[in-house]
Amino acid sequence: MLIVMQPQADEEKIQKVIDFIKQKGFDAHVSRGADHTVIGAVGRKVIDKRDIELLDGVKEVIRITSPYKLVSRVFKPQDTIIEVKGVKFGGGYIGMIAGPCTVETYDQMDITAEKLSKCGVKVLRGGAFKPRTSPYAFQGLGEEGLKILREVADKYDMAVTSEVMEVNQIPLFLKYVDILQVGARNMQNFNLLKSLGEIRKPVLLKRGLSATIEEWLMSAEYIMAGGNREVILCERGIRTFEHITRNTLDISAIPVVQKISHLPIVVDPSHATGLRDKVAPMSKAAVAAGADGLIIEVHHSPETALCDGAQSLYPEEFAELFEDLKTLARVVKKSF
Ligand code: PEP
Ligand code: MN
Repeated sequence: MLIVMQPQADEEKIQKVIDFIKQKGFDAHVSRGADHTVIGAVGRKVIDKRDIELLDGVKEVIRITSPYKLVSRVFKPQDTIIEVKGVKFGGGYIGMIAGPCTVETYDQMDITAEKLSKCGVKVLRGGAFKPRTSPYAFQGLGEEGLKILREVADKYDMAVTSEVMEVNQIPLFLKYVDILQVGARNMQNFNLLKSLGEIRKPVLLKRGLSATIEEWLMSAEYIMAGGNREVILCERGIRTFEHITRNTLDISAIPVVQKISHLPIVVDPSHATGLRDKVAPMSKAAVAAGADGLIIEVHHSPETALCDGAQSLYPEEFAELFEDLKTLARVVKKSF
């Protein structure tokens, strides 16, 4: 249920409404807009909406039948902008994240980060705990990988994102990482989502391999229901009958999500296509369709990469693409 307050409702009136719904067994999530404050009442209890309508300062009470509330634009009409190291995702800004699939060695990260930093990239990616299809494939360096990622990022004044796979890894990630990534395979790991709701750092939530947009938004709702408002959605391709590309990039998910939700949506063209030469065209398509960010795999030596070399751009290719994307962004009235 959404409670829209009158524009002139002061803090005292807002607080009285919050106290009232809490006392009725609901959680209150407050969104303060330029004109109105909206209070989202989330809970399973039954309440007579007229009891709330009668409270001082209440303009309107709207029952939401859609399964997602906090992620919905009805709850928060204005775009959520998530800022990390001065890089903004959402609200007319496109954030760029780049880096290798996996942290392999200090030198590998150092070489790639230096080149990316020179092109103006401020958010570095790199997996330390890798969800590999085969148990015999390289699983990542673990904490050592996170340490390298942090050290290199600090050297070039960058922020970092890396994938967290389990609840018990969260404290470790809070120590080293600025954006916690939930991988496609963990999109419905509800215990992990609930725990990420309790932290106060941005979460990059990847769409599951075969998840509908509604399921994906419900996973974002789990995180937000815990009180963490900083969720960045990431479309990374879905599994279809097509085998030439690794997955099928659902470009239409961008405008669809943006209509339903205020959360920023970024695109991962690397995992979506699995092919280096498809990364640039799909990145451009994503920006043209209104994406709020991109996460692109770049490796200084893709031939020797331990993971996903075939879809990783050479730093020079990335530099050229980033410049093209900045030009394209102007056409859609956005900026990096
Ligand atoms: C990744 O970004 O490192 C990754 C494993 O991606 P996904 O979860 O989308 O497969
Ligand atoms: Mn990868």
